[in-house]
Amino acid sequence: MSGDKCMFFNCNLSRRTSKNSFYSFPTNEELAKKWILNSGNMKLVSLSPKRLKKRYICANHFDTKMYNEPVGTIRRTLKKNAVPMEYSLGKICYI
Ligand SMILES: [Zn+2]
Repeated sequence: MSGDKCMFFNCNLSRRTSKNSFYSFPTNEELAKKWILNSGNMKLVSLSPKRLKKRYICANHFDTKMYNEPVGTIRRTLKKNAVPMEYSLGKICYI
């Protein structure tokens, strides 16, 4: 399992080839659990928090309301408690 890929279920975007933003899993354990649940990728449950921090979910899976307002030219950042959309409801990656 490569750490360069989006961990979301059925999403194969790679950080190397996609221009999408990628967001690493939160350090907060409770929040990280929600990310795993919503990602639909249950393989992540077995990862240690340290390894999980090196996994990413791409911008396709976050609702616009999960982002902070853009400041100048700085790329969008996620709100502190942002969680990805649930995979069953989320849209499929097209990029
Ligand atoms: Zn993705």
